[in-house]
Amino acid sequence: MPLLFIGHGSPMNALDTNEFTSYWRTLAENIEKPDAIICISAHWETDGSLVTSMAQPKTIHDFGGFPQRLFNVQYPAPGSPELAKEIQNMVSGTEVGLDDRWGLDHGAWSVIRQMYPDATVPVVQMSLDYNQSAQSQYDLAKDLAPLRNKGVLIVGSGNIIHNLRTINWSMQGNGFDWALEANDLFKKLIVKNEHRQLINYRKLGAAADMAIPTPEHYLPLLYVLALKKEDEAVTFFNDKTVMGSVSMTSVRIG
Ligand code: ZN
Repeated sequence: MPLLFIGHGSPMNALDTNEFTSYWRTLAENIEKPDAIICISAHWETDGSLVTSMAQPKTIHDFGGFPQRLFNVQYPAPGSPELAKEIQNMVSGTEVGLDDRWGLDHGAWSVIRQMYPDATVPVVQMSLDYNQSAQSQYDLAKDLAPLRNKGVLIVGSGNIIHNLRTINWSMQGNGFDWALEANDLFKKLIVKNEHRQLINYRKLGAAADMAIPTPEHYLPLLYVLALKKEDEAVTFFNDKTVMGSVSMTSVRIG
């Protein structure tokens, strides 16, 4: 299966039809339907690494200030307790815990709902462990590689550039100069397999510092890159910076 990092942007993308969500749909139509999805979402940070292990994950509306119709959305995809246990067994360097309390947060369902509206593909979420370094999380993700050959689609959901403090609502389809600079830099490093530099993103300079004020929307990218084989093709899509300081730039590997 290919690997995807998807820039999820506004929670309203769960409902809206726009250039980004249209591409998510096309993408799902163009790849083999997966047997299951593992989603590493920016919106689930935990003490220790966890995977959701319930049979029927609930839809979590983890946002405020959006229309009621967004709170009414349910995405009733099943979970996969079997896959959760398989992940737990295959990750060697870190203990992965089984979680029965979370569910699907909007980082997962806003995107996956657009890709698979019928909610028939089981979804397991994997959390970001806020105690672990970027390097440790990258290393952990490598252990998931065998699942790609078992029909499992691994999706990182975040935004490479995500600075809510500087958002400018009047710049709908545009980015600040520093955001465009950071977007170019990240893309260049991704294409050149410069993973060490991407893991050490705090040393990439001022534009990258502005792009990543907090790491949670960036880290899902590292999980996906960790699983890339050296010679696999990289394609960017939805390569656009919106509202000044959020990039929708997304990556398909393989
Ligand atoms: Zn988000």
